[in-house]
Order: sequence, then C-alpha cells, then structure tokens
Amino acid sequence: MNPSERLDEQLDAAIALLRRAEHAVAVTGAGISAESGIPTFRESGGFWEKYPPEQYATYSAFLKNPKKIWSMWRERSAMLRDSEPNAGHYALAQLEEAGRLEAVITQNVDNLHQDAGSKRVVEFHGNARWMRCKGCGHAEPITEEALERIPPKCSCGAIMKPDVVMFEEWISDDALAEASSLANRCDAMLVIGTSAQVYPAASLPRTAKHNGASIIEVNIEPTGFTDTLTDVHLQGAAGEVLPRIAARLTGENGT
Ligand code: NAD
Repeated sequence: MNPSERLDEQLDAAIALLRRAEHAVAVTGAGISAESGIPTFRESGGFWEKYPPEQYATYSAFLKNPKKIWSMWRERSAMLRDSEPNAGHYALAQLEEAGRLEAVITQNVDNLHQDAGSKRVVEFHGNARWMRCKGCGHAEPITEEALERIPPKCSCGAIMKPDVVMFEEWISDDALAEASSLANRCDAMLVIGTSAQVYPAASLPRTAKHNGASIIEVNIEPTGFTDTLTDVHLQGAAGEVLPRIAARLTGENGT
C-alpha cells in the first residue's frame, strides 16, 4: 500500500469515528500554523535557531533581561502580524460551524484560529497579540508604537510582558479548567500538529483517552502518542488533511 492509499484508508477510519462522536474537540500545536509560515519549535533553521527557546522563552530569562526578550518579540510580532490562517484553520472553523466540533484547545499564541472564524478557542498558552502588566495585571494589544521603546511599561510603572505562558510559568486557571473539562467530556479528540512534548498540554489527549475518547492524530510524522495512544494517525499536512475531513463531515462530499 502506498502512502496515499494508506492515508485514504486512515481517513475512512477517522471519519467513521468522527461521525459517531457527539463531543469532538481539537487540540492544536505549532504544526497547524506551519503552513501559514510560522516556524515550529522543532524545525531546523530559521527563527528558533536564532532565538533558542531555552534562552528566550523562559520566565527567568525575561526577568533577567526583559529588553533582550522583547527584542525577540518585536521580530516575532511582525512575523505573526503578517501571517494568515491556512486551509487547516478554516477547516476547523467549518467543522465547528457545522456542529461537528465543540471547541479548539490551542497551544498556539498566533490568534489564527479566531482569524479563521473558530468561535470557541481555549488559548492554553496565551495570545501573542497582547501584553500584560506583571504589576497590576492590566492587558492591552501590542502595538507598533509600544514596540518602539522596549520593554514597554504600564501606566502603573511596571514592565509589560507578552501575554503568553513562558516556560516556568503557570497556565491560567480558566484555560486549564476549560481544557480539562473538554478533555474529560469529549468522545473524540483530534490532535493536530503537536509534538506532544510540552506539558500540561500533552496530558490532554491522555485524559481524553482515559475517559474513553478516540484519538485521531494529524501530523506529518509520528509522535510519542502515535504508537501508544492514537487510534488513527493521519500522516499528512494539516492544511491538506483537515479540509478533506471537513468536506466529508459537512456534506460537501458525502463519500
Ligand atoms: P512543536 O514545534 O514541538 O511540534 C510541531 C509538530 O507539528 C511536530 O510534531 C511536527 O511533526 C508537526 N508538524 C509540522 N508541520 C506540520 C503540518 N504542516 N501539519 C501537521 N503537522 C505538522 O510544537 P508544539 O507541540 O505546539 O509545542 C511547541 C510550543 O511552542 C507550544 O507550546 C506553542 O505554544 C509554542 N509555539 C507556538 C507557535 C504558534 O503560535 N504558531 C509557534 C511555535 C511554537
């Protein structure tokens, strides 16, 4: 069987599971935005080699040298501002609209699910279009003006931080509670474009599986879940696989 025939077969299996599901949810990672031109952590070359996450994405690094971390965010903000949703993001919005998907839990901070039209999006790691004061908690959008003098300061005098969860920080209570409740209740979970290495996000599919949900993975390569947890691995790019799922489940192509 060649890879394309294998994908067709796996797609049939995934569709059967999703047709039966009453509470399907999706968990997405950096891979779904790769086709929008936003590099993932594990890709070689490019952004994260210039700015290694262990040096630029930890809270202690931010506290030590906020200006250095903000200079990275200035470049990243420009890249995120210029990016647009791809066919994978739109397919998830279409599935939600059709009543086939309850919510998207995303580890991404790029706002592309909302841009594509998804309504119920649980942002597990925050949103990079916003910044928040570490002193008084005030939040506001990151504007080009704010990036002219880094680190930006709050009117209370304290330093602002990009409103994303850095390594060594806690997930917000609200996001954790909503994501856990969705993972506990769902009967099918689409796990898309995540290497499943960052916790606690990586525990959501475990919770879902433990409660009887089927796990459908969409990833260009196998992950730590594939042989242990996953029922169906759709090996392919999210921007190609998800529109095929949406077309079949929303009646555009009933086969
Ligand atoms: P990761 O970089 O660890 O893994 C990306 C995964 O996506 C890999 O398993 C890879 O095989 C897969 N992948 C790559 N291209 C794909 C495609 N076109 N279709 C399907 N799968 C594809 O990402 P992660 O697991 O999300 O963990 C990284 C952390 O970094 C997350 O917490 C996230 O918040 C953050 N991050 C976010 C963004 C963003 O907001 N777009 C980008 C980079 C990193």
